[in-house]
Formats: sequence, C-alpha cells, structure tokens
Amino acid sequence: MADRINEIAVAPIPARHWTELGRNAYTPEGLGETRTEWLVRARTTGGVEGLANARQSVSADGGSIGRLVADLREVFLGRSVDSLLEIADGHAVAAGSEVRQALATWGWMDTLAIDLVSRTRGKSIATLLGGRRRERIPAYESTTYFQDLLHPHRGLAAVVEHTCRGFADGFRQFKIKVGRGGRAMTPSAGLHRDIEVVLGIRDALGPDVELMVDANFGYDGQPENLEEFIRATSSARLTWLEEMVTASVEAYQALRDLQATHCPETLLVAGEVDGNPPSGAFVDLIDQGLIDGYQPDIVRIGHLRWKQLESRLAEKSILPIPHNFGNGRFGLIAGLALATSLDSWVALEDERIRPNVYADDALTVINGAYWAPAGPGLGIEIDHDAYARIGAPNEVVIHA
Ligand SMILES: [Mg+2]
Repeated sequence: MADRINEIAVAPIPARHWTELGRNAYTPEGLGETRTEWLVRARTTGGVEGLANARQSVSADGGSIGRLVADLREVFLGRSVDSLLEIADGHAVAAGSEVRQALATWGWMDTLAIDLVSRTRGKSIATLLGGRRRERIPAYESTTYFQDLLHPHRGLAAVVEHTCRGFADGFRQFKIKVGRGGRAMTPSAGLHRDIEVVLGIRDALGPDVELMVDANFGYDGQPENLEEFIRATSSARLTWLEEMVTASVEAYQALRDLQATHCPETLLVAGEVDGNPPSGAFVDLIDQGLIDGYQPDIVRIGHLRWKQLESRLAEKSILPIPHNFGNGRFGLIAGLALATSLDSWVALEDERIRPNVYADDALTVINGAYWAPAGPGLGIEIDHDAYARIGAPNEVVIHA
C-alpha cells in the first residue's frame, strides 16, 4: 500500500547565530543573536519522516500556529506521498495536481514534498531533481553586519575582526553589509565608513578571499555616493554588488554603467525580495540582462520551483545565487541540497546558525566549502535527544 502521511509535528526551534549581529541599512536595531525556525516533521505510514521550516507561514501577515496547523491538515495530512509530485523518468517534474497551488504559494511545502518523496524512494533530493551536480558546495560568510555600530569603541576594527574570525573558522568568501548612510549614519559619514570597511577587510584577509557587498537598497536616492562607493572600492575587486538600489530598469541601467566603468568583473545581483519569481521589475531586469545573479530565497521558493527557475535564468546567462538568511539551521541543510541539485552554482549564503536539533555533526565548512549531502532526501535526520530538550516542550502534533 502506498505511503500516507499520518502524523505531523510542528515546533518552534531557537536558531542562534554564532555571535551577536549588528544592524543593516534598513533594520532599526541590530539583529541580535536568536531567531526562530518552525520545524515541521511529517511522518508516513512507511516510517519515513520529511522535514521543513515553515517560518514563512507563521511570520506572514495573518500567520499563526493555528493557521499553519490547518494548512498542514489540508495539504499533507492523510495524503498519499505518491500524489505530492509528478515524476517522469524517475525525476520530479511538477507538483501533484491536488497540491500544486499550495506548493507554489509556500516554498517550504514544496521542500517538504520533495523531501518526503525522495526519502520514500531512498534517493537524495539532487537525484530526484535530475542528478547530483557537485561534491563540494562553496559557501559564503553572511554575518558581517554593522558590527562597528554595535561596538562603537572598536569601530572599524570590530568589523574587520568579525571577518578574521570567520576566516579562522574556514570561510573564504565574505559578504559585507553596507549602506550605512541614511538610517544608520549621515550619508557622507556612512559612505566613508562603508568604503573604509571594504578596504579594511580586503587588507586584513588578503587578495585570495572573495568579497561581496549588500546595501539592502541603502544607496537609494544617493547617486553620487553610489558612484563614489563603486569607484573607491574598485581596488577591492568585489565579486558582486547586491541590492545597491531598489530594483527598476532605470536604476539598474545606471548601475550597469557604473559597473562597466569601474569594476567590469563585478556581478550585479538582486531578487531576494521576489516572492513569486520572476515578478515585478525582475521580469525586465532578467529579460534585459541587467542583473548577473538572481536571489529568490531557498526556503521561501522551494527546491522544485528553484530547479524550474534555473532553466529560465540559464537562457539569459543569469546565475542562481539564492538568498538563505533567516532560514535557521534548516536553511543550511536545505541550501546544501539545492546547491547539489542546480546545474550552476556560485556560493551558498551561510548565516552561521549553531547546531540545534539536527544530527549534523559533519556539517563543517572546510577551506570555504561543505560536502554535498548524499541523501536520502535532505540527508539529515533529527537528533532525538536534542529535540526532546529543545523542540518537544512546545510541539503540536496532529494525526490523520
Ligand atoms: Mg541581501
């Protein structure tokens, strides 16, 4: 008899960064240290357990635990695993017709379906999506926020030291938050500090690491400061410029001109805000080749959807560089599975969440990369002792 989903547990799991993070261009305060992942464990009559992080559902407008549980009942509970996806030649090609709308709306449901089906078949997610593409997954350190404003007495040194610790921990690629001028500092002071931070980190870490910057739109309305930032940091040979300004054709044509003049090797990347990729201005940015990398979030979009998106991007030679911040320890696990599945890969965003409830001792970055997961499914199980302490006290369990 076909496997059916007969039990689902949901629990909030604290997800702690390796250290306290400062603010970025738009947050009014620092990000602190702890976030929450909403772990979903869906079990089948055949003894398989699929995992997902449903944080998007709980944090959405109108979201609640009651709503999440109702959605799980409607979409997954009692359903046959075989009906979740359409399979052709052993590969997942589409969501099942009965759940298609739900999986397109909630990327974590797409991932849960992919995980359940691949585990039931004893395959990795990459194999189910078309084949394993690589053995090592390059990852980038993504926690260099405005640490100078969190530790004012150390200023620039606090940011540089933060990245030096990341280097000692094995990272070889670092993304640096910029865009201080506006909400965090005056435009001129913010510009000066942004430049000083980028050049200071390049100086400290040397020529071989990859450095990128992310302004979270912090240079909106400051065309002269944007040009000066790009000109003054060109010697740092940045790998990419992320969300320097809000996405529009006009803004990205101007940005493309600046890049061509000052740093032609640097990529222009954006798209983490696109929840239905591609939509809005991103349709034109992709069609006109005004971005080089596109960044919809891994957990928000899901694995099957990302795999489908990849071919559309490839037609325009645009690289998949998915966002993966805020997804918790689960995000790292999900990201490694996606990175193993996509034909082209740049680097996985690592927000550096400490181990919590997963049996993932082998997840260690070595010389800038992780090992690709072997499966089945996501390739990671729950650590039952850790879950009993951290997850079980607040879990909700529903049965078919
Ligand atoms: Mg970003």
